Amino acid sequence: MSGGEKRSTAVAIIGSGPAGLTAALYAARANLQPLVIGGVPAGGQLMLTTDVENYPGFPEGIQGPELVTRMRQQAARFGAMFVDAEVRGVDFAHRPFRLDLGLSGSVEAKTVIVATGANARWLNLPSEQRLRGHGVSACATCDGFFFKGKVVACVGGGDSAMEEATFLTKFATKVLLIHRRPEFRASRIMLDRARANRKVEFITDTEIVDVLGDGTVTGLTVRHLPTGVTRQIAPVDGLFLAIGHDPATSVFQGHLDLDERGYLRTRETTRTNIPGVFAAGDAYDHRYRQAVTAAGLGCMAAIDAERYLAEAPEHGVA
Ligand code: NAP
Repeated sequence: MSGGEKRSTAVAIIGSGPAGLTAALYAARANLQPLVIGGVPAGGQLMLTTDVENYPGFPEGIQGPELVTRMRQQAARFGAMFVDAEVRGVDFAHRPFRLDLGLSGSVEAKTVIVATGANARWLNLPSEQRLRGHGVSACATCDGFFFKGKVVACVGGGDSAMEEATFLTKFATKVLLIHRRPEFRASRIMLDRARANRKVEFITDTEIVDVLGDGTVTGLTVRHLPTGVTRQIAPVDGLFLAIGHDPATSVFQGHLDLDERGYLRTRETTRTNIPGVFAAGDAYDHRYRQAVTAAGLGCMAAIDAERYLAEAPEHGVA
């Protein structure tokens, strides 16, 4: 563990998306003065989202970063403390648990809530990154609604791509399903469902080389891989990435039970294999991946941590 400021807390929360901040709100209201280690940049995937229209309580919708700011203010109002640093290493073998924050010091904690989230995979094209939140999205559930009567493209060949393409046909007039191979990773049933949908047009053996448009997406440049021929497709008003997610859990490898894709495994509700360490949000949940479900899991983890401390007060520091 490195030098720097040493802090101690009853509840350390790693991550500051909706899961971490809701855990902070509940733990703070339980008088546990949680310490949120927010990550760099703080705020999670909502910070990359523009309009959020499916978070209850905001009938007019709310911008993702503003929702994060409000959640943070709400947790701070009840005494949650924040350090926007990365966790570089953990020691869950001894009590109190220890978190290494590199140059930002270290934390001793009686309980830890891991809410580090997941990151959508991107193609990493400069034009795609420039148009993120302006027609390029990694969440059809969140953003599909904005494409009523439009043409959209969805990239990927797994279950997510099939699910998202099928979902997008509720809004779009046409969905171009672009996949880099002729075979699909998707399950038969999901693939057949997408194929049976007349609004879905399959474009295989093809990669996206550029997303066209200045302020918003207007089209795509694609390359047919067997021939190398490139062409433009327009109009295309939106591009949805469905090429998978990666949980932000590498620092917990060898310390917590992870599944084969790196998602945290839990036992009973939010409990991990280490008593006193709890999991919440997209680092654990790869099925729903919504701000509201992450917030719900954050609430559950905080209540579980509070009960754990009440039942086992002898654990950890004073
Ligand atoms: P996935 O199964 O890993 O599929 C990712 C797809 O994206 C693959 O087809 C892959 O192509 C493609 N891809 C990856 N990187 C790419 C790149 N840089 N450029 C172009 N294409 C790229 O991911 P997923 O579809 O998100 O599914 C993840 C897991 O969740 C799976 O186990 C899935 O069954 C499950 N899931 C289930 C449901 C459901 O049952 N309702 C819904 C969604 C997801 P290649 O095939 O060429 O590698």
